Amino acid sequence: MTVATHFQHKDGVLHAENVSLEQLAHDFGTPLYVYSRQALHDAWNSYHQAAQGRDVLVCYGMKANSNLAILNEFARLGTGFDIVSGGELARVIAAKGDPSKVVFSGVGKQRWEIEAALDAHIKCFNVESVAELERIATIAAEKGVKAPVSLRVNPDVDAKTHPYISTGLKDNKFGIDINIAPAIYAQAQQLPNLDIVGLDCHIGSQITQISPYLDALHKLILLIKQLQDQGIHLKHLDIGGGLGIRYTDETPATPTDLLSAVFQALDAADLGHLQLVLEPGRSMVGNAGVLLTQVEYLKSNQDKHFAIVNAAMNDLIRPTLYEAWHDVEAVRPRNNNATISYDIVGPICESGDWLAKDRTLNLEQGDLLAVMSAGAYAFTMASQYNTRPRAAEVIVDKQSVHLVRPREELHSLFESERLLD
Ligand SMILES: *Cc1c(COP(=O)(O)O)cnc(C)c1O
Repeated sequence: MTVATHFQHKDGVLHAENVSLEQLAHDFGTPLYVYSRQALHDAWNSYHQAAQGRDVLVCYGMKANSNLAILNEFARLGTGFDIVSGGELARVIAAKGDPSKVVFSGVGKQRWEIEAALDAHIKCFNVESVAELERIATIAAEKGVKAPVSLRVNPDVDAKTHPYISTGLKDNKFGIDINIAPAIYAQAQQLPNLDIVGLDCHIGSQITQISPYLDALHKLILLIKQLQDQGIHLKHLDIGGGLGIRYTDETPATPTDLLSAVFQALDAADLGHLQLVLEPGRSMVGNAGVLLTQVEYLKSNQDKHFAIVNAAMNDLIRPTLYEAWHDVEAVRPRNNNATISYDIVGPICESGDWLAKDRTLNLEQGDLLAVMSAGAYAFTMASQYNTRPRAAEVIVDKQSVHLVRPREELHSLFESERLLD
């Protein structure tokens, strides 16, 4: 789902599918994360169709949005999961996901996380360093099992995205330098408790063009050929996630654009037999959600105008963390022309607490606003900073509404804390 099709104005009011956001604000309060079930299905379908019936495993990059209802929905549609922690593995299991479709990425896998992943029989560890490879081999030997491994290589390509979400350049912390990968594969081959199953790379996020993927793929193909010469035959190639979505006026490449080009390159290299693994996160959920909020106050400091809303950087940190742009739409837009340019800010005591800057809107106190494209890296990055309860999450399915995480209660924010004697 690369555009927010399931959030449209009907009779002058913004809806999620067939439910008005005014109704949701009334029933559940604000701030509120609102997701569209149909948008989740559409996103899955866009990958499923792009696969053209070939052996493709979509391992949803679940750090984008890991609500159990969303994980369960994707699991029922057939996805696997790309996890980056033992906590995420526990979520997959709680959401009835299939561990044998789980790939485990991340530079800092701890012993307990590796043990849990081996016990759950995951599909593969995406190994990011020699030290990690050795730790996995040791733990697998202790358990008397073979650990399935891929090396996550760093292909040193520019994903042409924001530096904080670019991961495939040689000065990023991620992956193993592709130039030394043949030697590390050879080392892995000598370790009896490792089973070499694949090759992995993930070059960044919010990538809108396919050229960075193809630059990386070209290098991966050369590596796979070299491994074949070393007698190492892989089962799968994982090209990571990272496809972008439309936040404003981007025209991101689609899964079909990407996969058609990938299949063509693999077939040309006689590698069409490899299973293709993908790790899309943002493009599966980003435009399936909005953050609904209400204007508490309007205020002007000389010629600067602020709309102070009840959502804040603790609910959506992307603007202040990445200078990310999210569209802000009035739930019930007024007809007369807007002339005032507002910064949309939250109540948190930080100048960095803003959601959008310089937006021309016609606002009054009490208005509802929808911060668009808040399905990915919104709730999962939320905190309780300023002792703000994390907002509720609902999923709309046509006329129905499911509360999939209630608003946190104040007492729950500190109930586990203890006073000194
Ligand atoms: C975050 C992440 C993803 C998902 O990235 P998106 O840009 O959300 O598609 C996939 N793989 C790895 C290893 C990641 O860290």
